[in-house]
Amino acid sequence: MRITIIGAGVSGLVAGRRLVDAGATVIIVDKGRSVGGRLATRRIGGATFDHGAQFFTVRTPAFQAQVDDWVERGLVEVWTHGFAGDDGHPRYAAPGGMNSLAKDLATGLDVRCPVMAFAVRPSEGGCDVVLDDATVIAGDAVVVTTPLPQAFSLMADAPIEIDRDVFHADYDRTIALLAVLDRPADLGSVGARQAPSDDVAFVADNQRKGVSEVPALTLHAAPEWSLAHWDDDIEALAIGLEALAAPFVGEAEIVERQVKKWRFATPQRVWPEPCWTTLDGRIVLAGDAFAGPKVEGAHNSGLAAAHALLG
Ligand SMILES: Cc1cc2nc3c(=O)[nH]c(=O)nc-3n(C[C@H](O)[C@H](O)[C@H](O)COP(=O)(O)OP(=O)(O)OC[C@H]3O[C@@H](n4cnc5c(N)ncnc54)[C@H](O)[C@@H]3O)c2cc1C
Repeated sequence: MRITIIGAGVSGLVAGRRLVDAGATVIIVDKGRSVGGRLATRRIGGATFDHGAQFFTVRTPAFQAQVDDWVERGLVEVWTHGFAGDDGHPRYAAPGGMNSLAKDLATGLDVRCPVMAFAVRPSEGGCDVVLDDATVIAGDAVVVTTPLPQAFSLMADAPIEIDRDVFHADYDRTIALLAVLDRPADLGSVGARQAPSDDVAFVADNQRKGVSEVPALTLHAAPEWSLAHWDDDIEALAIGLEALAAPFVGEAEIVERQVKKWRFATPQRVWPEPCWTTLDGRIVLAGDAFAGPKVEGAHNSGLAAAHALLG
């Protein structure tokens, strides 16, 4: 079986790994410069920032098996058991940055970046992917793991029955501030706060978390703040975000800063099945809009997509 996967985030990589292990020939394309999607880590000088997913939890045996493997190989550690007191549930982080987990999943897979898929086109007995340079990757089936509005664009002109309900999912936006500090942030022993105010969804010091050599603050503005300020120019955004960060920056000085905008940060609605397959079984949709808007959901949706194709 020749399968093309669009998207090298967690879901696409997990699907690819499982399909290759089962003997399929898999090509994964991603429009980003590298793998990972929302598992993103960025360096600014000596500072390292997780700027998409910050940590993850585990609730299912399938994901637990993956996390146990990462822990055994030193790629993942328990960061804390709660951001507002110990509730007994581990929150995991990756000392090498969240993106190191995507790189691990991608090891040995045929991943092509940056390669933009333009359309998904059923063919005689199979399904092709047309790239934006008009190249065609021929195959038997396609797994689409992009956020759903992007998946809809890829499939809109394909002669296939699309259940439009699947695509009726908008996504919350997130605007992030990445700030290099001259000393640690004022964020207590854990080094992070979850929803400390109406306007802030999460704030963390990546040094305290064990990811950065120097103090490096990631702040995620809440969805409502992010929507209200989406079209502000970057300087105005940076000033607004710095004001949100001020209580956590404390006595420290911001040495350098960047702003990052996530248009498709979190699906507002999650489809009840872990993936969605066309009637002819040639196209499978997967990603965190199916099994839950988290790293674990994306992982489990990728597994479900592979199983849907393997039967
Ligand atoms: C700011 C933020 C904070 C988060 N915090 C947490 C957290 O603390 N804990 C947690 O568990 N989860 C968190 N999440 C959610 C988590 O990151 C996601 O659920 C998960 O990473 C989604 O993986 P995915 O494979 O479904 O999608 P993605 O990672 O979005 O992968 C989709 C890929 O498709 C690619 N793509 C899109 N269009 C095309 C195209 N036309 N051609 C080729 N490639 C294309 C994209 O480049 C992308 O790499 C957070 C997300 C964000 C944005």
